[in-house]
Amino acid sequence: MDTVIDGSLFPARYWHRLADGRLQCDVCPRLCKLHEEQRGLCFVRARHGDAMVLTTYGRSSGFCIDPIEKKPLNHFLPGTPVFSFGTAGCNLTCKFCQNWDISKAREIEKLNAPAGPAQIAAAARQLGCRSVAFTYNDPVIFLEYAVDTARACHEAGLRTVAVTAGYITAEARGEFYQHIDAANVDLKGFTESFYRNLCGGRLSDVLDTLVWLRREGTVWVEITTLLIPGENDSDSEIDALSRWVAAELGVEVPLHFTAFHPDWRMRQHPPTPPATLTRAREIAVGHGLRYVYTGNVHDPAGGSTYCHGCGATLIGRDWYELTSWGLDAIGRCRVCGTQAAGVFEAAPGTWGRKRQPVQFQAA
Ligand code: SF4
Repeated sequence: MDTVIDGSLFPARYWHRLADGRLQCDVCPRLCKLHEEQRGLCFVRARHGDAMVLTTYGRSSGFCIDPIEKKPLNHFLPGTPVFSFGTAGCNLTCKFCQNWDISKAREIEKLNAPAGPAQIAAAARQLGCRSVAFTYNDPVIFLEYAVDTARACHEAGLRTVAVTAGYITAEARGEFYQHIDAANVDLKGFTESFYRNLCGGRLSDVLDTLVWLRREGTVWVEITTLLIPGENDSDSEIDALSRWVAAELGVEVPLHFTAFHPDWRMRQHPPTPPATLTRAREIAVGHGLRYVYTGNVHDPAGGSTYCHGCGATLIGRDWYELTSWGLDAIGRCRVCGTQAAGVFEAAPGTWGRKRQPVQFQAA
């Protein structure tokens, strides 16, 4: 563990003192135990004197307006713009990380000009966004900043989105998700060996979070699995994952199989062939899952939403762009009247596929 660099230090929640004098962070299942002036594995939560602090409160790696479909969320306010930001660091160590420049960032001084919760909510509203997403790196590690920002967003009439690996303790998740309207949770693989060897975490903890989220029922949940050739893309693993989702979470939970591109420490692996994504989708549909998608590829058939009642196309998509809309004003199929699962409005948004970076001025 590294020595603390002075930065903005915000009092952290969820920690306790151990008998040997170390402080244990209780935010994620890693439960880092810290001597004075040490940082946790995530690098952004640290011991400062006799207390734990968050070193990235109010500081972001960048702001961008994205299509909500990019999170990916296909059943939450489709077609709308989402004000997106992250900070630095991560509590997993995925060798295949697709955002490693942010999640592995140790140079916190490079984070953008400060942006407090109220500023973020005001900017998102002014720019016409419908929601604010904590994304690019896992918001679990900046819980205090995310919660305060989510509160400000709700006060401003905006929804909140978490893009997360679900690696959070039972103690911390109640407060965190109380302020979240929709989450995309990475289910990175379906074996403990995959999580242990490639992510430095435990599958069982992520499954606990998913089951809890569905049981609580206040957060709209979608799942993403990045398929990495030769690592987590076997028929048997996809079969086991899909069966578990159907049995434990329900057939209405959308599942996204997305394509890997060589990155970070796994540059020797080839990109995921589109046929692998299509095969995975077929396996999951075979288990009764109603909304299964291919992602990070050009595949309008695999990216669209279909009615489980009559098979009609409910939402046509081409990458992040909506191409057709077959829902009525309350989210039912216009052909047969079957209700679709999700958070829909009378009409879809019209944001399209564009990304728009946003610069905050220093205060
Ligand atoms: S949130 Fe960070 S400091 Fe806390 S247990 Fe997880 S990795 Fe360690």
